[in-house]
This record gives sequence, structure tokens and C-alpha cells, in this order.
Amino acid sequence: MFTFVGGALCLDFVNTSSWNGDAEINDRLTDAGALATWAREAKIPEARALAASPPASLMNDTKRLRLVLRRVLVPLAHGQEPPEPALRAFEREAKRTLSAAQLSPRSASSTKPRLALVWPEDAAGCGVLERVTWSALAFVRSRRRLHALRECEGDACGWLFVDTSRNHLRRWCEMRTCGGAAKARAFRARQRGA
Ligand SMILES: [Zn+2]
Repeated sequence: MFTFVGGALCLDFVNTSSWNGDAEINDRLTDAGALATWAREAKIPEARALAASPPASLMNDTKRLRLVLRRVLVPLAHGQEPPEPALRAFEREAKRTLSAAQLSPRSASSTKPRLALVWPEDAAGCGVLERVTWSALAFVRSRRRLHALRECEGDACGWLFVDTSRNHLRRWCEMRTCGGAAKARAFRARQRGA
């Protein structure tokens, strides 16, 4: 079971590993099966194709994309411009994603048809990495969502999330993990001081 607390597909993807400063820890996408499980839990329609026949390059592509997205999103969470190499790498992922995409008409009986981006099952990222990249492209262009983008303040976490709390003071990915640990630490510090 994966945790989905980011508030955007691209953030939940980046949150499949944790960070202690610059060191990646606790990578939960250990193999293609884990990625397929994540994609299914994230309700990505192409998850089934990925589980059936993952290409050999899939996990390399997965880890590269996750690192690229993190290098772009963390500075943005702190109100800084991402470094140039990270931007160029993100651009390459975006171009790859768009070049594999197909436009497909979608129509519901009650509405006018619209066009949707879809990815064939044999796309390099099985349509799953492509959807994540597309989510990131939409995310970084949204002033409102970037404004609310935060990095968890917990020790050895580094998860990213959109702060939709009413007072905009959310500091942790989850109260039950990082928030609870921070509160327990503060409590112990108070006890020592008393
Ligand atoms: Zn956290």
C-alpha cells in the first residue's frame, strides 16, 4: 500500500522515496511490480499494461524521472528557480512524453466531444511515466498550486505536498508520521526544560 498525501499525481510519484538531505532513503519502487501497484493505487488507467509487460528500461526511466522531478519541484517548493540542468532534463522528459502521445476524441452523451492525451501500451513508460510527467508539466505552470507547494519538515522525509489547509500552515506530510514525531520531540524538550 502506497501513501497518497501529495495532492497531485506528480507529487505522489516523487514521494515514493524519502530523503535525508541529499541522500535518497527508503525507495519503495523496488521493481516493476511495485511501480504497477503504485500506478494501480494511483488509479492510472494504463497500470494494467505495465503489470503485463514492463520494458527492460522501465525502472531506470522511473528513477531518472523521479529524480528530475524532485530537482525541479523542491526549489519551487522553497520559492526558488530550479537549477538550469534540472530544467533541461525536465524538458527532455516532457518532449519524450509529448512525442509518444496520441490525441483521442472522448465524448460523453451529454457533452460535446473533447480531445484527450493517451499513450499506447508500448510507450517507454507504459503510459504511466508519461502521465506522471504530464501531471508535473501542468503542476509547474499553475501559480495557485505552486504557491501552496511545500516540502515536509519531518526528519528524513522530504515529501512534497500541496497545502490546502485553511490557514496554510500545514508543515508535515502526515500527522500520524512526521507530525507526530515532531510533536513528541517538542514534548520531550519541554519536559527536559521543566
Ligand atoms: Zn514527512
